[in-house]
Amino acid sequence: MKISDLSPADRETVLWETIGHLQALIRIESVNPPGNEIGVARYLHDVLQKAGIDAQLLEPAPGRGAVIARIKGTGAKGALLLLAHMDVVGVEREKWRQHPFSGEIADGYLYGRGAIDDKGMLATNLQAMLLLQRAIDATGTRPDRDLVFLATSDEEAGGKFGIRWVLEHHREDVAAEFALNEGGRVRMRGGRNVYAAVQCAEKVPYNVIVTARGPGGHAATPHDRNAIVRLAHALSRIASHQEPLQLSDITREFFSSVSAVWPEEDLREAMADVASGDEKRVARGAAILRLSPSLDATLRNGISPTLISGGIRTNVIPTEAAATLNIRALPGESIDDVIRRLQGVVDDPSVEFRVRSSGTPAPASPLTSEAYAAIRSALARVDAEVVAVPFLSTGATDSAALRNAGIACYGLLPFPLTEDDEARMHGHDERVGVNALAFGLWLTCAIVEELS
Ligand SMILES: [Zn+2]
Repeated sequence: MKISDLSPADRETVLWETIGHLQALIRIESVNPPGNEIGVARYLHDVLQKAGIDAQLLEPAPGRGAVIARIKGTGAKGALLLLAHMDVVGVEREKWRQHPFSGEIADGYLYGRGAIDDKGMLATNLQAMLLLQRAIDATGTRPDRDLVFLATSDEEAGGKFGIRWVLEHHREDVAAEFALNEGGRVRMRGGRNVYAAVQCAEKVPYNVIVTARGPGGHAATPHDRNAIVRLAHALSRIASHQEPLQLSDITREFFSSVSAVWPEEDLREAMADVASGDEKRVARGAAILRLSPSLDATLRNGISPTLISGGIRTNVIPTEAAATLNIRALPGESIDDVIRRLQGVVDDPSVEFRVRSSGTPAPASPLTSEAYAAIRSALARVDAEVVAVPFLSTGATDSAALRNAGIACYGLLPFPLTEDDEARMHGHDERVGVNALAFGLWLTCAIVEELS
């Protein structure tokens, strides 16, 4: 089964077909909230149906959508699921130089909200389905596995009308052994692709409320048990607290592999130190990685104060003030242990901690699976220079729900991005390079082939 067995001219045609789909998807606004993903869902359903692929158009709630499609294989092996979400985050229109919902191409980039999060994958997943169906139509041979396409709503707001709804109501329709989703990175630096981070696990998000209490009173009579002042002290202590460093198999392998290819020497050495297992070297490396917040965040639980409230009048000392801590715990970490450490750091009995919401802890996807091996060999086919490395993502994705449903899930985001490109995700002038889109398309197709 060869879906990427195309002449250069055919490849060019297929790439422009994919670009056309991505532009169409970007032009259907699906900013969440409110979502309104149904328009995107109808488009995808229509394209799949016209290609002769069995697809379901579902409506989890008015205006929300889901699309599930399945191309049948011989059934010799478990199915492969391609997942992407249809909703996007909002835009600050005046800060964009390009129109955020036009899908314009300028200087080799396709611009628009969702270009990399996550309509790019929606388009390449769709194209992989179309190419596989055409290959089946042309040759009459079926792959070993079913290929399943799933487009969800509501990823950007917790997945109640998205992955969670699909797993609750259509579990059998998305049954699969492996899944590919967003959540990884192909890091571009100095004009070349350095590594492809394959997300195999993710941190677990919690919201914890810290409340400080004290006697109220008239503001004209200041006193030092003021709840706002107590909260400020507590937050200042939390800010200077660092959670303990913890390496897992995934982060050790990540730093060890990336250290071999990273272009800058100081960071390269720090990564090798962290992965070395030697206590002194680990501490030395971690101190340097501390300067890079995104890398440091993979080594320990992260705590960010994000909301604050307190007070009722300018001339009244309030009895209560509260802040929200957004805590991202490493897999396997107990939030109660984190809170116990914070209580020790704050050391003030008038300050209370309460867990308001908890994410879903999920098992890591194995590095020994056929899917992980397929991703590695597919990458080598598309770009022999780039190494695949396992990755723990600090952000949460739909993959946690799939992992808990017994599907080994690997996070890709298969488009080579510089750090600047990546910073545009959820930011202004989000874009994907046309070459990067082509890379992602052929990588997705190569993975499908490797697993077929
Ligand atoms: Zn996303």
